[in-house]
Amino acid sequence: MDVAVHEKLRANLAGVESRIAAACARAGRARSEVTLVAVTKTVSAKIAAMLPELGVFDLGENRPQELWRKSEILPKSIRWHMIGHLQRNKIERTLPLVALVHAVDSVRLLQALEQQQRPIRVLLEVNVSGETSKQGFAPSALPDLVPMLGDLKHVKVSGLMTMAALQEPEACRPAFVTLRQLRDQLRTNGLPDVEHLSMGMSNDFEIAIEEGATLVRLGTVLFEGISEPEA
Ligand SMILES: *Cc1c(COP(=O)(O)O)cnc(C)c1O
Repeated sequence: MDVAVHEKLRANLAGVESRIAAACARAGRARSEVTLVAVTKTVSAKIAAMLPELGVFDLGENRPQELWRKSEILPKSIRWHMIGHLQRNKIERTLPLVALVHAVDSVRLLQALEQQQRPIRVLLEVNVSGETSKQGFAPSALPDLVPMLGDLKHVKVSGLMTMAALQEPEACRPAFVTLRQLRDQLRTNGLPDVEHLSMGMSNDFEIAIEEGATLVRLGTVLFEGISEPEA
């Protein structure tokens, strides 16, 4: 069964890789500009452990407890991405384990991260779709944050992240364009290190790459057809 799962995962990954490469080619971008973050929240540690064997070393989890659990068991060569909301009481335990925190959605959280006095790279989550159900900074709030962001000593804001509304992929394009424009504004307004765009999920990653995504967060499309009884 493990061999079959491994082969299915290899095939899924090959399919995803060729779609990423094609989207890069359409946009005139190098494949190396886009990092695939495999979102392992729906699979066991055993299946997640097959990813580094297949050359995927960037893994994402949206719940801190699950990231703690998997990172303890899986190879240390993995770069963990905290892609979901990080509660302040989970910061201390999470920071030493992760390469990047994707969804920083408030000034309070930024300040709590800074208080750890530990170098950490983060992305600001932006609610570009304006849905009230979504977390994140309003686009209009970003310019006022620039002085505060520039003063952070330990937290390095490396880019922006968004979740597009679930809809036709092409309908997500304006949200991705907006996120890119917001990043460009921050860069020209004194924050040159704001370079990354974490945008694009299984439904819409090709559009996101065409619009400049540097990190795509993929779960469903990688693990479709793979099921296993949890041990
Ligand atoms: C689950 C999740 C993803 C992956 O979504 P898929 O549609 O399964 O690819 C990406 N980003 C976040 C924040 C998630 O929680």
